[in-house]
Amino acid sequence: MNNYDVIVVGGSYAGMAAALQLVRARRNVLVIDAGKRRNRAASHSHGFLSQDGADPDVIASTARAQLEAYPTLSWVDDLVVKASGSRDAFVVERAGGETYGARRLVLAPGVSDTLPDVKGLAERWGISVFHCPYCHGYELDQGQIGVIAANTMSIHQAQLLPEWGSVTFLTNDAVELDEPTLQDLFARGVIVETTPIDRIEGHADVVLAGGRRLGFAGLFTASKNAPSTPIAEELGCALAETPMGTQIQTSETKETSVAGVFACGDAARVPHSVSLAVADGAWAGAQIHRSLVWPEG
Ligand code: FAD
Ligand code: MG
Repeated sequence: MNNYDVIVVGGSYAGMAAALQLVRARRNVLVIDAGKRRNRAASHSHGFLSQDGADPDVIASTARAQLEAYPTLSWVDDLVVKASGSRDAFVVERAGGETYGARRLVLAPGVSDTLPDVKGLAERWGISVFHCPYCHGYELDQGQIGVIAANTMSIHQAQLLPEWGSVTFLTNDAVELDEPTLQDLFARGVIVETTPIDRIEGHADVVLAGGRRLGFAGLFTASKNAPSTPIAEELGCALAETPMGTQIQTSETKETSVAGVFACGDAARVPHSVSLAVADGAWAGAQIHRSLVWPEG
């Protein structure tokens, strides 16, 4: 079994940013990545300084090429199926069957998105259905925006999105609006549509029950998030609930409740973006290095 200073589970923006700090300190790092970045359906990524509008795949592959130039970096494309052990003696197993040892673990698996059950929504995710106005609002050109309610977070989306266009809030039986909330939405120019949604068609056309059709430049909805692997739980790491779902709980130094296991990126913070995942990973990488240099803290 090969032994590493650090194994990184999930080699996307957060995981690679952590690995970069560590290989630059000449530590032996293994990145194991299943290759399913959260933004894989989107062809452009916005808001990441110097890469605004870039293809998210190009951002990731450039980062990987730069990482792989370091001699102490190893990379395996696969899914981690099991992790066990404790500080200085972790064992990680991948779907292909091999096991690897490490003194520290970084969990950077990103999150899964559970969307409201509306016909036609999932296949438009990242194309004409989004969750983050800072990522995709500007390109809608101040046009018609539909917000499809999923939970109470959707009220916040409906209040914020008038900054980017004319908003219709489709409550779709998912939220109840009290009088003060309705008045707040009206004051922001939001149209509230309470007829349930039958399906989404075309680019972003909402067909209501009864057949009425509303055309939009884009749609927003609040997905429910959870870490995209159960490995944190299996290791015994504490989880935390946020308005967006479940995340791995970490301290200031990005260490989880299990000594030697660190977590970063979407799975371990809110809110979510490429910039924030990179920053979180860079910080985690430096803190893990610190824990190797000063093991007594
Ligand atoms: P991810 O990028 O999700 O990567 C996690 C990696 O870990 C994946 O490669 C996954 O396969 C791997 N993994 C998971 N489990 C395992 C396992 N058990 N073993 C091995 N590997 C594993 N942000 C922006 O800043 N700008 C945008 O324009 C933007 N657009 C978006 C569009 C959409 C549709 C969505 C859903 C999100 C968008 N985001 C955007 C948010 C951005 O995608 C995330 O914040 C970012 O990807 C988080 O990076 P991460 O490294 O934490 O996780
Ligand atoms: Mg990552």
